[in-house]
Amino acid sequence: MNPKYPERLRFAHLPTPIERLERLSKHLGGPEIYIKRDDQTGLATGGNKTRKLEFLIAEALAQGCDHVVTTGAPQSNHCRQTAAAAARYGLGCTLVLSGEEPSSITGNLLLDKLLGAHLYWAGERPRNEVMVEAAEKLRKMGRKPYPIPLGGSNVLGATSYVLAMKELTEQLKSERLNIDFIVFASSSGGTQAGIALGAEVYGFRGQILGISVDHPSEALQTQAAALATATATHLGLGHLSLAERIKVNDDYLGGGYAVMGEIEREAIRMTAELEGILLDPVYTGRAMGGLIDLIRWGAFTRGQTVLFWHTGGPAALPAFADKLL
Ligand SMILES: *Cc1c(COP(=O)(O)O)cnc(C)c1O
Repeated sequence: MNPKYPERLRFAHLPTPIERLERLSKHLGGPEIYIKRDDQTGLATGGNKTRKLEFLIAEALAQGCDHVVTTGAPQSNHCRQTAAAAARYGLGCTLVLSGEEPSSITGNLLLDKLLGAHLYWAGERPRNEVMVEAAEKLRKMGRKPYPIPLGGSNVLGATSYVLAMKELTEQLKSERLNIDFIVFASSSGGTQAGIALGAEVYGFRGQILGISVDHPSEALQTQAAALATATATHLGLGHLSLAERIKVNDDYLGGGYAVMGEIEREAIRMTAELEGILLDPVYTGRAMGGLIDLIRWGAFTRGQTVLFWHTGGPAALPAFADKLL
């Protein structure tokens, strides 16, 4: 299989390192745990959206756009990385955030402001609807906006994780490492679609497990599989069905999106205290909490290896300070 990749900018710090979590693995007494540090992609504290934005901003520039518009939750890592990428390329940036402006401006929201983004509060209205409106307003002002969907999860965003699997399989080969499971936080499905398709293209034989952050597994599996198929077509690979490779666990939805519970708190503290690595309350804390729980239930054997793909997010930690301590 020979994918034809679209234009891409290069601002992410790649390849991101793979590290062995020796103390955490020993503490849990289960499989050997490794971590892929996509929290270190370099864009204003980094994260998985940085890879996606290399393709998305490239297309925005190729189309002669002078402004990007996207949407997310108030503590969205995607919005913060989009604001940083826009700043770097001299583009304006409008962020449509859900709800009302909170009284305390902290975490990613503080960074959005520092990065010069214009913020729109959607209140109770559907974010996408407000995003279309914001883009229309910009056009009337003579600007040329480039809309980026929630989480940057379209074929371009997913494409970046196909390439990330090329990067990973090359690292595994040169480090003579075999990985049985890849585990990560999954939400809008772009990362999972790209990893699944990349696994197919670059011959990764292990299993791929997304821990859902906010959707029932069936809905997310369907969405990610459809995006993976569309991405394959976009890369000139013809029609591929990736449904078999896309597995989502939704046992850890807890109190809902961005509601931090005991599972997330324990995972964040354990990873910080044993490994000196920061997770985030919304995504990676939940995914690592899920992984820890699965290990305790005996889902893996001792000789197996698990790669936890750190997708970023600790910039949100200050917004959850009162629930973390
Ligand atoms: C956006 C995000 C995810 C989820 O990625 P999707 O491609 O939307 O599934 C996971 N972790 C972090 C930290 C994120 O910001």
